[in-house]
Amino acid sequence: MHAEPLKNLGATYNSFYVYDETVIEAQIDRLLRCFADVTFLYSIKANPAKPIVSFLQTKGFGADAASLAEVFLAKECGVERDSIYYSAPGKTEADLLGAVDHCMLIADSLLEVERINRIASARNTVLDIGIRINPDFTFEGERGVPSKFGIDEAVILNQPELILKHTHVRITGIHVHVKSQELCAEKLKRYYENMFRLGLNITSALHTSLQYINMGSGLGIPAWGQPDLDVVTLGQEVCKLISQYRATLPNTKVIIETGRYAVGLSGYYATKVLDVKESMGKKFIILCNTLNGFMRPSMAQFLLNYTCEKNLGGCEPLFSGTDAHGFMALNDSVEQETVTLVGNLCTSADVIARDITLPKLEVGDLVVLTNAGCYAASLSPVLFASLEPPMQFYMDSNETIHTI
Ligand SMILES: *Cc1c(COP(=O)(O)O)cnc(C)c1O
Repeated sequence: MHAEPLKNLGATYNSFYVYDETVIEAQIDRLLRCFADVTFLYSIKANPAKPIVSFLQTKGFGADAASLAEVFLAKECGVERDSIYYSAPGKTEADLLGAVDHCMLIADSLLEVERINRIASARNTVLDIGIRINPDFTFEGERGVPSKFGIDEAVILNQPELILKHTHVRITGIHVHVKSQELCAEKLKRYYENMFRLGLNITSALHTSLQYINMGSGLGIPAWGQPDLDVVTLGQEVCKLISQYRATLPNTKVIIETGRYAVGLSGYYATKVLDVKESMGKKFIILCNTLNGFMRPSMAQFLLNYTCEKNLGGCEPLFSGTDAHGFMALNDSVEQETVTLVGNLCTSADVIARDITLPKLEVGDLVVLTNAGCYAASLSPVLFASLEPPMQFYMDSNETIHTI
C-alpha cells in the first residue's frame, strides 16, 4: 500500500486502520490455488469488518463464527447456512436456539450435545451436528493436553455411548483447532495427517459417515520482514492426503479455517504524533490511541518488560511475538532519531516501542504499524479513558475508501 491514501486520511483523523483488499485477495488466491481440494472458512473474529466478510464470501469462503452475532453477520454478508460453522465454548441454550436454523452447529462439550439434542427433540427432528474434539496430539508432540475446548478424543473413542445416547442428533462432522500462527509446513502436514486418522477413528467409533473434517487453523503469517509459510509445499501435501483418504472417507469435505492468513497482512494502523518531549535524556513520542487502539504491540512490550521470561511463547491471539509489526514514519525527514513510542492514555504501560530508530518525528506526522489486519481493532480496549476510538477504512481494489 502506498502512502497517499494514509496521508489523505491523516488530514482528518488522528488514528485509523486501513484494510487493503488487494492484499487480502492475493493471500486468499494463493490459498485457493495451492489447496485446490480444500473448503476454506474465514474466522470472523480475526476481523469482523463487513466488507471483509463480504469479500471473502464472494471468493467462496464460508464462515467460522465464534458467537451468535458472528453467525448473523456471516448471514448478512451472504454466506449460506451450510457454510456457516458456529463453534465456540460455552454456548448457551439461547445461543443454540437462536443459531440452529442459520448455521451448522458444532458442540463444544457433552453438555452442548445434550442441549442441542433437547432442542431437536422438542422439534421432533434429528439434527446433523459437528463436535469439537480435543485431540490426543498437538503440533509438537504425540500426546494431547488438557483443554477447555472440545471433548477429549479418548472420551469419544472409549465411551461413544455418551454421545450415541442422544438420539435426536447425528454426528456428521468433527472440528479441531489446537494452534494458531504456525510457520513450519512440516508440522502442519503432520497435524493434518493426524486429523485424517482421527476422522477415521471417529467414523468407526460413532458408526457415522463424516460430511466434513474441519481441521481448524494454524496457517501463520510472518513477522515483519521474515520468511513466509511455504503454502505451495503444504498445499501439495494436503491434496496428496485427501486423495489418499478418498477411499475411506469418500464423502468427507476437508475444511481449513483461517483468520490471520487471509487478512493479517492487509491492515495498516496509522496513529498521529500528538506531542514530542524529552525526559532525563530520553525522547518520547506521544501517539494517539496505542494500547487502546491497537493492543497487540503494547502487549508485546508489556510482556517483554514486565516478565523475566527470556523465550516468550506466543499466546494467540493476544501476543504473537515481539517483532510481529513493522513501524514506519510517514514523513520526509532524512534525520534519524532514537525514540520511545507511547500513547495518550494515563498509564505508563502504554508503550508500543522502546528505543526505536525512525526518521525524526514532528507533531502531526503519522506513524504506521504493519500487520494490523487481524486481532487489532476488535481486540483493543477502546473504552478505556473514554477516548475516541480509531476509525476503520476498507480500501477496495479500485482504491476507493469505504468507512467501516
Ligand atoms: C481464532 C480461531 C481461528 C482463526 O485463527 P487464525 O490464527 O486467525 O487463523 C480458527 N479456528 C478457531 C476455532 C479459532 O478459535
